[in-house]
Amino acid sequence: MALHVRGVILPDDEVRDLWLVGDRVSFTPVPAATTVSTGGFVLPGLVDAHCHIGIAPGGAPVSGIDEVRALAAIDREAGVLALRDAGSPYPYGELDDAPEMPRLARAGRHVAPPRRYLRDIGAEVPAEDVAAEVTRQASAGNGWVKLVGDWIDRGEGDLAPAWDAATLAGAVEAAHAAGARITTHVFAEESVATLVAAGVDSVEHGTGLSGDVIAEMARRGTALVPTMINIETFDGIAAAAESKFPVYAAHMRRLQANFPALVADAYDAGVPIYVGSDAGGGIDHGLAAAEMLMLHERAGMPVDAVLAAGSWGARAWLGFPGLVEGGLADLVVYDTDPRTDLRVLRAPSRIVLRGRVVR
Ligand SMILES: [Zn+2]
Repeated sequence: MALHVRGVILPDDEVRDLWLVGDRVSFTPVPAATTVSTGGFVLPGLVDAHCHIGIAPGGAPVSGIDEVRALAAIDREAGVLALRDAGSPYPYGELDDAPEMPRLARAGRHVAPPRRYLRDIGAEVPAEDVAAEVTRQASAGNGWVKLVGDWIDRGEGDLAPAWDAATLAGAVEAAHAAGARITTHVFAEESVATLVAAGVDSVEHGTGLSGDVIAEMARRGTALVPTMINIETFDGIAAAAESKFPVYAAHMRRLQANFPALVADAYDAGVPIYVGSDAGGGIDHGLAAAEMLMLHERAGMPVDAVLAAGSWGARAWLGFPGLVEGGLADLVVYDTDPRTDLRVLRAPSRIVLRGRVVR
């Protein structure tokens, strides 16, 4: 059964008719198709390019596959039709093509240094085992590997790199040899410089960016997923750590304060930026639209760029073609133009995923 939609298709900005036939988009009329929307503004769905559907609220691994489905459903109902899981302690590869699931780009478990990451989440390995673990996690995921690039070193009382440059070079090489892209959790200045130089494909958070590192990312085409919602939590992390780790607390506060301007600089320099909420654990799912609003209001990214970063641009980056002939049959419709007010993104009037009406 085919579906028919008429509306202003973004980013083309034209009123068009399109048909969804099975899981594909077509611009060739299909007689007897069911019309499901006849007005408004049509996007190929929002994207949350950094979330975790294998981590339960509170931060423990999910209890099972049904909880993975339930967390993904919160995103789907918010119009998020593609997501990148940036590290899951729970394997759920059997859901990759499930009809109810948003498109999934997945890392396996975080590859983390011993006792220097969230408890029970990462595959914790010493430096000499990182490359082998990256290979293992590349096959557990479906195209991405996630490396923990830095974390607090309790002995030093501050953020410190997780790995040296040679270990990172080996990790990047192992990921690419396995056909995966590699991304990294990183907050601090020194760590992000080393990771970008090692050739990671994407930087998550990236609060320690400098002008030089931004220029290097632009040159290499390294992506940035700022997760501004997550960075807003740094003052709470700092307050909790203050009495034991005052240097770390001050560092986290400084990183938070400087961050919106760095995202603006990265955008201006031409670094590819994508929307990620870091949902899972302490952050709720379904917040891609909220992150998009922050990229506009706090980092000054133009509305068109924010829409690309949280929809068609991010889909292209993750390998999920949008509203083009032969593209994947996902779309959201908004009654009014999100380019005039991004808050519209919170209230889709129609959601279609994999050629089926969600609502
Ligand atoms: Zn994360």
